[in-house]
Amino acid sequence: KLYNEVQDLKGNIRVYCRVRPFLPGQCKNLTTVEYIGENGELLVSNPTKPGKDTHRMFKFNKVFGQAASQEEVFLDTRPLIRTVLDGFNVCIFAYGQTGSGKTYTMSGPNMSSKEEDWGVNYRALRDLFHIAQSRKGSMTYEIGVQMVEIYNEQVRDLLTCHGSHKRYPFLLDFSMHQVTSTEDVLELMNIGFMNRAVGATALNERSSRSHSILTIHVRGVDLESGTILRGNLHLVDLAGSERVDRSEVTGERLREAQHINKSLSALGDVIFALAQKSQHVPYRNSKLTQVLQSSLGGQAKTLMFVQLNPDLDSYSETLSTLKFAERVS
Ligand code: ADP
Ligand code: MG
Repeated sequence: KLYNEVQDLKGNIRVYCRVRPFLPGQCKNLTTVEYIGENGELLVSNPTKPGKDTHRMFKFNKVFGQAASQEEVFLDTRPLIRTVLDGFNVCIFAYGQTGSGKTYTMSGPNMSSKEEDWGVNYRALRDLFHIAQSRKGSMTYEIGVQMVEIYNEQVRDLLTCHGSHKRYPFLLDFSMHQVTSTEDVLELMNIGFMNRAVGATALNERSSRSHSILTIHVRGVDLESGTILRGNLHLVDLAGSERVDRSEVTGERLREAQHINKSLSALGDVIFALAQKSQHVPYRNSKLTQVLQSSLGGQAKTLMFVQLNPDLDSYSETLSTLKFAERVS
């Protein structure tokens, strides 16, 4: 195998925690993150209420502190991503409350950002193109991209429809777009982000209440043996995990919240069942887990980015995010 790095991947489920920096205007003195260890330890506390229950230690495969760059985060993700070229399925999720940096990690701060700000999705595609190119003598690869949104348990294509691509066994009803360069990808993603905004009064509002899934399909042909390899990479920017106060929301907002709650807990249950090597994996409980079923479990690999806002005001959300993560890690 070309990638020795892959052997470092123990098990099929990994959880990385990332603490985003304070934003201008946030008070830096009041942080919930007390300590980050070399081996994935994270200590959170609530300095305004010292006591037993206000200090909690968690352990992940890795914790990225506020100073971690996009490049650093990507380098720890890359070995997993590269397995797609060898025919593996990979799912990468960003989980956390709204404003915790999910979109930043997956895509970057905005669509027209500088290369150093690029998130996992562009870096992944650039890397896949690069490796595909370097294997040109022995393999030919085709790379296709899909982008869908799940909102209120309905799946919507975010890329304009050019018909489905029968060669790929996944999401046949949704449009597939062949890409050959990072420019193609940037262009498609811009379309996707624009489509995501259509009909929404405020983009951020809507995007925090829907899951977006970017799927990269790879089909490789071994030129000598004719063997065909298929792998896909799902990059999932999940809806915000914050609890809504049932006494304060009604109607549409409550319905949204219930759908989000249901799908995030269904996702947690699936990953938990997989981590436990349980006989029964409850994929059917949400659209999200149904859509991703073929890429969760079996030989597939899963990475969850658990995103934290270090601000003290977020302490209770931070704890509930960490508890979710602890269960699946
Ligand atoms: P979410 O998608 O979870 O709602 P965002 O990714 O939109 O959160 O992040 C909220 C804000 O914090 C944005 O302004 C974003 O640019 C900024 N941000 C998030 N993570 C980082 C980071 N690691 N470095 C710098 N800014 C960040
Ligand atoms: Mg977001």
